[in-house]
Parts: sequence; structure tokens; C-alpha cells
Amino acid sequence: MRVANLNGRLVLLDGDRALDVATTSSGAFGPDPQTAYVSWESFAEWARGADFAQAVPFDAAQLGPPVPAPSQVIAIGLNYREHAIESNLAIPDAPAVFSKFASCLTGPVGDIPLVPGNVDWEAELVVVIGRSGRGISVADAWSHVAGFTIGQDISERVLQTSGPAPQFGLAKSFESFGPTGPAVVTVDELDDPDDLAIGSSLDGEVMQDSRTSELIFPVAELVSRLSHVLQLRGGDLIFTGTPSGVGMGRTPPRFARAGQELRTRIEGLGEMRHRFVAVDSATRV
Ligand code: ZN
Repeated sequence: MRVANLNGRLVLLDGDRALDVATTSSGAFGPDPQTAYVSWESFAEWARGADFAQAVPFDAAQLGPPVPAPSQVIAIGLNYREHAIESNLAIPDAPAVFSKFASCLTGPVGDIPLVPGNVDWEAELVVVIGRSGRGISVADAWSHVAGFTIGQDISERVLQTSGPAPQFGLAKSFESFGPTGPAVVTVDELDDPDDLAIGSSLDGEVMQDSRTSELIFPVAELVSRLSHVLQLRGGDLIFTGTPSGVGMGRTPPRFARAGQELRTRIEGLGEMRHRFVAVDSATRV
């Protein structure tokens, strides 16, 4: 099942067609995309039996963030060994956790304004929570996951590393610094949800190329560990960390320039396309 946000309305996707949920369910679910994750189990049961007869072709540029208003956007740093090494930081023995602010979330196609500083890319697998909980065991963790989507944890490195305590939350939450999409894909659609190819490219040049099986703390362990501190709620997002190949870790470092196209892909989830633009010419979303 692929759940998306088309022009602000909850839809199910099937190939190149979209089915409006509020219309098809006679108002039982939607139209706000976030409502799917408030009552995920009953929505998923309805969606599995949905009749796609009324589905219509759609333009990917009209897709918004599939989970537009999460109560929490949790992010994990240094969760791939090679990325910790390129960052000249130790391999963590517990997840390094920070937060992105939800106002930075945007959809899978669009512009990313180049704020002053060094703007960098981070392709990430994003977990979408379906069932709320605290103290979740690793064995139960998957039952709390609605699905996955692709994320970019866009980061401005000067602010991120400034001051006596790192400014991760601010430096990764500028306007449009949280692209997500194209859809939330349920894990039953994936052959092995713990082993998906993940990567990014800049103007066609491969920047990142890894697999999610390289995660130091894999999905079920992250859900469990986080839930022993936080209450995870339906519709929360977990950005699970980025593989090596970010601009900051290169010799010499490379950062985004106006006009460059960033593509981000994860096996089974699809692809996102964004263009870095000068702040003044950014299309507001
Ligand atoms: Zn990140």
C-alpha cells in the first residue's frame, strides 16, 4: 500500500494513478493526510480493500509531504559506520538523537532555498509510526510501524557546528530542509525492509550509495530504544541517519550550489527530485 498527499488530500497510489480517500470512503477517512496515522489500523484495513475504479492520473509535482504534521520528527545521527568515520566522530554505542522541526517538511519534488552557509545533503530512510506506544520491545517494534518513506535531512553545516553545543535542530530545520515522499510504503511491499538500496546524486553524479542493512541501529531497535524514553505516536517520523558521501565528509568538502538537482532514492520507495535555488528565487511551499 502506498499512502500519499496529493494537493493536501489523503490519497492511495497505484502506479501512476491516485485514489482520493475521503471521496472513496464517503468521509470515513481523510481528506487531511495526517488522519491516516491517527487511526492507522482501521485506515489500513479499509485501504487494503479499496476499489481503485475511481483512481485518476496524477502529477508527482503535486505531491506534498505524505505525513505533513507529525507530533514529533525524531532524527538519528551517525547511524552508518562509514558516515561516522567521514565525520571524524566515534562509532556510537547508543543512538545519537536530535529533532527536526516539523515546519521544514515538504514533498518529494520542489525547490530547496540555499540559505547562507554550507548546505549539505543527507539521504535517509524515514520510519512512519502507525501505532502509539511506550516501552516497546524489539520483537513488537514492527507492529508499531505504518511504513517507510524517503527523507532528506538537509543541513546547514556552519550553524550546525557553531557555539558550545551543536545546533542540530535549528541547522536542519530551515525552510524546505525536510523533503519527504513520494509516499508512505507499507513494509509488506518490501522483500526485506532491513535491506534497501539507498542513495543520492547531484546533477547525475552519485554522492551516496549504500544499503539500509548497514544501519548500526536498525529500525526495530530504534523504535524500541526511543520508546523507552519517548511516547511514540501515530504519524511520528524517525529519520534513521544518512550513509557516507555527504558534502562535509568529502576532501575537499563540497556543498550545494544554486541550480543543482538533488535526486534521492530508496529501493522500493521511489525517488525524490529537488533543485537548490537562491533564496530570493525559491518557490514558497
Ligand atoms: Zn541526518
